[in-house]
Amino acid sequence: MRGVPSPERPPGFALIRLLLGGICNTDLELQRGYYGFAGIPGHEFVGEVVEADDLNLVGRRVVGEINLACGGCDWCARELGRHCPNRTVLGIVKHPGAFQEFFTLPERNLHILPDEVSNEQAVFVEPLAAATEILDQGAIPAGETIAVQGDGKLGLLIAQVLLANGYAVEHFGRHARKLAISGRAGARTHTNGDVPERAFGWVVEATGVERGDGDGASDGAATRYGVSEIDRA
Ligand SMILES: [Zn+2]
Ligand SMILES: [Zn+2]
Repeated sequence: MRGVPSPERPPGFALIRLLLGGICNTDLELQRGYYGFAGIPGHEFVGEVVEADDLNLVGRRVVGEINLACGGCDWCARELGRHCPNRTVLGIVKHPGAFQEFFTLPERNLHILPDEVSNEQAVFVEPLAAATEILDQGAIPAGETIAVQGDGKLGLLIAQVLLANGYAVEHFGRHARKLAISGRAGARTHTNGDVPERAFGWVVEATGVERGDGDGASDGAATRYGVSEIDRA
Protein backbone atom coordinates (compact mmCIF):
# COMPACT_ATOMS: atom_id res chain seq x y z
CA MET A 1 0.00 0.00 0.00
CA ARG A 2 1.35 3.44 -0.81
CA GLY A 3 0.11 6.99 -0.79
CA VAL A 4 -0.37 8.75 -4.13
CA PRO A 5 -2.11 12.03 -4.97
CA SER A 6 -5.71 11.78 -6.15
CA PRO A 7 -5.61 11.88 -9.99
CA GLU A 8 -6.56 14.98 -11.98
CA ARG A 9 -9.86 14.67 -13.84
CA PRO A 10 -9.48 15.87 -17.47
CA PRO A 11 -12.61 17.26 -19.20
CA GLY A 12 -14.93 14.42 -20.22
CA PHE A 13 -13.47 12.10 -17.64
CA ALA A 14 -15.14 10.86 -14.45
CA LEU A 15 -13.34 10.61 -11.13
CA ILE A 16 -14.28 7.21 -9.73
CA ARG A 17 -13.94 5.76 -6.21
CA LEU A 18 -13.17 2.04 -6.19
CA LEU A 19 -15.80 -0.15 -4.52
CA LEU A 20 -14.54 -3.58 -5.57
CA GLY A 21 -11.72 -4.75 -7.83
CA GLY A 22 -11.03 -8.09 -9.49
CA ILE A 23 -7.48 -9.41 -9.72
CA CYS A 24 -6.85 -11.46 -12.84
CA ASN A 25 -3.89 -13.19 -14.37
CA THR A 26 -3.09 -10.16 -16.53
CA ASP A 27 -2.42 -8.21 -13.33
CA LEU A 28 0.02 -10.87 -12.19
CA GLU A 29 1.72 -10.92 -15.61
CA LEU A 30 2.03 -7.12 -15.56
CA GLN A 31 4.03 -7.48 -12.37
CA ARG A 32 6.36 -9.79 -14.34
CA GLY A 33 6.88 -7.15 -17.03
CA TYR A 34 4.14 -8.01 -19.56
CA TYR A 35 3.38 -4.93 -21.77
CA GLY A 36 6.22 -3.14 -19.97
CA PHE A 37 3.60 -1.67 -17.64
CA ALA A 38 4.84 0.24 -14.63
CA GLY A 39 2.32 1.90 -12.39
CA ILE A 40 -0.99 1.11 -10.81
CA PRO A 41 -2.73 -1.98 -12.23
CA GLY A 42 -6.43 -2.85 -12.05
CA HIS A 43 -8.96 -3.10 -14.90
CA GLU A 44 -11.81 -5.13 -13.38
CA PHE A 45 -13.75 -2.85 -11.08
CA VAL A 46 -16.98 -1.60 -9.65
CA GLY A 47 -16.83 2.06 -8.68
CA GLU A 48 -18.86 5.05 -7.64
CA VAL A 49 -18.60 8.27 -9.65
CA VAL A 50 -17.42 11.11 -7.43
CA GLU A 51 -17.04 13.86 -10.04
CA ALA A 52 -18.04 14.09 -13.71
CA ASP A 53 -19.10 16.62 -16.34
CA ASP A 54 -22.33 14.64 -16.71
CA LEU A 55 -24.09 15.21 -13.40
CA ASN A 56 -26.36 12.20 -14.03
CA LEU A 57 -23.30 10.03 -13.39
CA VAL A 58 -22.36 11.53 -10.03
CA GLY A 59 -23.11 9.18 -7.14
CA ARG A 60 -23.92 6.26 -9.46
CA ARG A 61 -22.38 2.80 -9.30
CA VAL A 62 -20.58 2.04 -12.55
CA VAL A 63 -18.47 -0.45 -14.43
CA GLY A 64 -16.41 0.63 -17.41
CA GLU A 65 -14.91 -0.23 -20.75
CA ILE A 66 -11.15 -0.33 -20.27
CA ASN A 67 -9.91 0.88 -23.68
CA LEU A 68 -9.37 4.62 -24.06
CA ALA A 69 -9.55 5.28 -27.81
CA CYS A 70 -7.75 8.28 -29.36
CA GLY A 71 -10.90 9.33 -31.25
CA GLY A 72 -8.91 10.67 -34.21
CA CYS A 73 -7.59 7.71 -36.21
CA ASP A 74 -9.09 5.59 -39.01
CA TRP A 75 -9.98 2.80 -36.58
CA CYS A 76 -11.84 5.23 -34.32
CA ALA A 77 -13.61 6.73 -37.35
CA ARG A 78 -14.95 3.23 -38.10
CA GLU A 79 -16.13 2.88 -34.48
CA LEU A 80 -13.42 0.32 -33.77
CA GLY A 81 -11.97 2.28 -30.87
CA ARG A 82 -11.28 -0.92 -28.92
CA HIS A 83 -8.69 -1.71 -31.59
CA CYS A 84 -7.36 1.87 -31.89
CA PRO A 85 -3.57 1.59 -32.30
CA ASN A 86 -3.10 4.72 -30.19
CA ARG A 87 -5.35 3.63 -27.36
CA THR A 88 -4.39 3.41 -23.73
CA VAL A 89 -5.88 0.74 -21.48
CA LEU A 90 -6.95 1.11 -17.87
CA GLY A 91 -4.33 -0.52 -15.67
CA ILE A 92 -2.62 -2.23 -18.64
CA VAL A 93 -1.27 0.32 -21.16
CA LYS A 94 -0.29 3.84 -20.06
CA HIS A 95 -3.40 4.61 -18.01
CA PRO A 96 -3.28 4.21 -14.21
CA GLY A 97 -5.57 1.41 -13.12
CA ALA A 98 -8.37 0.85 -10.65
CA PHE A 99 -6.38 -0.54 -7.73
CA GLN A 100 -6.36 2.83 -6.00
CA GLU A 101 -8.91 4.76 -4.03
CA PHE A 102 -9.65 7.16 -6.92
CA PHE A 103 -9.05 6.73 -10.65
CA THR A 104 -10.32 8.23 -13.91
CA LEU A 105 -12.01 6.95 -17.07
CA PRO A 106 -13.76 8.77 -19.94
CA GLU A 107 -17.42 9.23 -19.08
CA ARG A 108 -18.43 7.59 -22.39
CA ASN A 109 -16.68 4.39 -21.18
CA LEU A 110 -18.98 4.03 -18.16
CA HIS A 111 -22.07 1.90 -17.71
CA ILE A 112 -24.44 2.60 -14.81
CA LEU A 113 -25.30 -0.53 -12.83
CA PRO A 114 -28.88 -1.48 -12.02
CA ASP A 115 -29.51 -1.75 -8.27
CA GLU A 116 -30.26 -5.47 -8.46
CA VAL A 117 -26.71 -6.28 -9.63
CA SER A 118 -24.42 -6.62 -6.61
CA ASN A 119 -20.83 -5.41 -6.50
CA GLU A 120 -19.70 -9.03 -6.28
CA GLN A 121 -21.56 -9.83 -9.52
CA ALA A 122 -20.67 -6.61 -11.31
CA VAL A 123 -16.94 -7.06 -10.83
CA PHE A 124 -17.24 -9.84 -13.43
CA VAL A 125 -18.72 -7.56 -16.11
CA GLU A 126 -15.35 -6.79 -17.74
CA PRO A 127 -14.17 -10.40 -18.17
CA LEU A 128 -17.74 -11.46 -19.02
CA ALA A 129 -17.81 -8.85 -21.79
CA ALA A 130 -14.61 -10.40 -23.19
CA ALA A 131 -16.30 -13.82 -23.09
CA THR A 132 -19.42 -12.62 -24.92
CA GLU A 133 -17.28 -11.10 -27.68
CA ILE A 134 -16.76 -14.63 -28.96
CA LEU A 135 -20.36 -14.59 -30.20
CA ASP A 136 -19.60 -11.37 -32.10
CA GLN A 137 -16.36 -12.69 -33.61
CA GLY A 138 -17.65 -15.92 -35.08
CA ALA A 139 -21.04 -16.71 -36.61
CA ILE A 140 -21.39 -20.09 -34.91
CA PRO A 141 -24.48 -21.97 -36.14
CA ALA A 142 -27.16 -22.62 -33.50
CA GLY A 143 -26.88 -25.86 -31.60
CA GLU A 144 -23.22 -26.56 -32.46
CA THR A 145 -20.99 -28.41 -30.04
CA ILE A 146 -18.03 -26.23 -29.05
CA ALA A 147 -14.86 -27.37 -27.31
CA VAL A 148 -13.53 -24.92 -24.73
CA GLN A 149 -9.92 -25.40 -23.67
CA GLY A 150 -8.86 -23.97 -20.33
CA ASP A 151 -10.65 -23.73 -16.99
CA GLY A 152 -9.37 -20.37 -15.78
CA LYS A 153 -11.79 -17.55 -15.06
CA LEU A 154 -12.17 -16.65 -18.74
CA GLY A 155 -12.64 -20.26 -19.85
CA LEU A 156 -15.34 -20.73 -17.23
CA LEU A 157 -17.11 -17.53 -18.27
CA ILE A 158 -16.90 -18.48 -21.97
CA ALA A 159 -18.34 -21.93 -21.31
CA GLN A 160 -21.27 -20.42 -19.40
CA VAL A 161 -21.90 -17.78 -22.10
CA LEU A 162 -21.98 -20.47 -24.80
CA LEU A 163 -24.29 -22.69 -22.76
CA ALA A 164 -26.62 -19.76 -22.07
CA ASN A 165 -26.81 -19.19 -25.83
CA GLY A 166 -27.89 -22.76 -26.55
CA TYR A 167 -24.60 -24.34 -27.58
CA ALA A 168 -23.36 -27.69 -26.27
CA VAL A 169 -19.98 -27.32 -24.55
CA GLU A 170 -17.22 -29.86 -24.05
CA HIS A 171 -14.93 -28.23 -21.51
CA PHE A 172 -11.31 -29.36 -21.26
CA GLY A 173 -9.16 -28.40 -18.28
CA ARG A 174 -7.05 -29.62 -15.43
CA HIS A 175 -8.98 -28.68 -12.31
CA ALA A 176 -12.05 -30.70 -11.33
CA ARG A 177 -12.99 -28.06 -8.75
CA LYS A 178 -13.09 -25.32 -11.40
CA LEU A 179 -14.72 -27.43 -14.09
CA ALA A 180 -17.51 -28.22 -11.61
CA ILE A 181 -18.67 -24.63 -12.21
CA SER A 182 -19.24 -25.11 -15.95
CA GLY A 183 -20.42 -28.67 -15.26
CA ARG A 184 -23.23 -27.31 -13.09
CA ALA A 185 -24.18 -25.00 -15.96
CA GLY A 186 -24.46 -28.00 -18.31
CA ALA A 187 -21.02 -28.52 -19.87
CA ARG A 188 -19.51 -31.96 -20.35
CA THR A 189 -16.21 -31.68 -18.54
CA HIS A 190 -12.85 -33.38 -19.14
CA THR A 191 -10.38 -33.02 -16.29
CA ASN A 192 -7.39 -35.02 -17.48
CA GLY A 193 -5.66 -32.07 -19.11
CA ASP A 194 -5.72 -33.70 -22.55
CA VAL A 195 -5.97 -31.56 -25.65
CA PRO A 196 -9.08 -32.68 -27.54
CA GLU A 197 -8.69 -34.68 -30.73
CA ARG A 198 -9.47 -32.77 -33.93
CA ALA A 199 -13.09 -33.75 -33.59
CA PHE A 200 -14.80 -30.40 -33.07
CA GLY A 201 -16.02 -27.91 -35.63
CA TRP A 202 -15.43 -25.09 -33.16
CA VAL A 203 -12.77 -24.65 -30.54
CA VAL A 204 -12.29 -21.80 -28.08
CA GLU A 205 -8.71 -21.60 -26.87
CA ALA A 206 -8.62 -20.12 -23.36
CA THR A 207 -5.52 -21.67 -21.86
CA GLY A 208 -3.14 -18.91 -22.93
CA VAL A 209 -0.50 -21.36 -24.19
CA GLU A 210 0.02 -22.46 -27.78
CA ARG A 211 -0.24 -26.17 -27.08
CA GLY A 212 -3.66 -25.62 -25.54
CA ASP A 213 -2.98 -27.63 -22.40
CA GLY A 214 -2.01 -24.87 -20.01
CA ASP A 215 -3.49 -23.90 -16.71
CA GLY A 216 -6.28 -21.83 -18.18
CA ALA A 217 -4.89 -18.56 -16.97
CA SER A 218 -5.47 -16.47 -20.06
CA ASP A 219 -7.31 -13.20 -19.86
CA GLY A 220 -9.79 -11.43 -22.09
CA ALA A 221 -8.31 -8.02 -21.51
CA ALA A 222 -5.21 -9.24 -23.25
CA THR A 223 -7.38 -10.91 -25.92
CA ARG A 224 -5.25 -14.00 -25.66
CA TYR A 225 -8.10 -16.24 -26.66
CA GLY A 226 -9.23 -17.10 -30.11
CA VAL A 227 -12.16 -18.63 -31.88
CA SER A 228 -11.18 -20.79 -34.77
CA GLU A 229 -12.89 -23.12 -37.14
CA ILE A 230 -10.80 -26.23 -37.56
CA ASP A 231 -11.20 -29.01 -40.11
CA ARG A 232 -13.11 -32.08 -39.21
CA ALA A 233 -10.14 -34.35 -39.84
ZN1 LIG B 1 -8.72 -9.15 -16.45
ZN1 LIG C 1 -7.90 5.95 -32.49
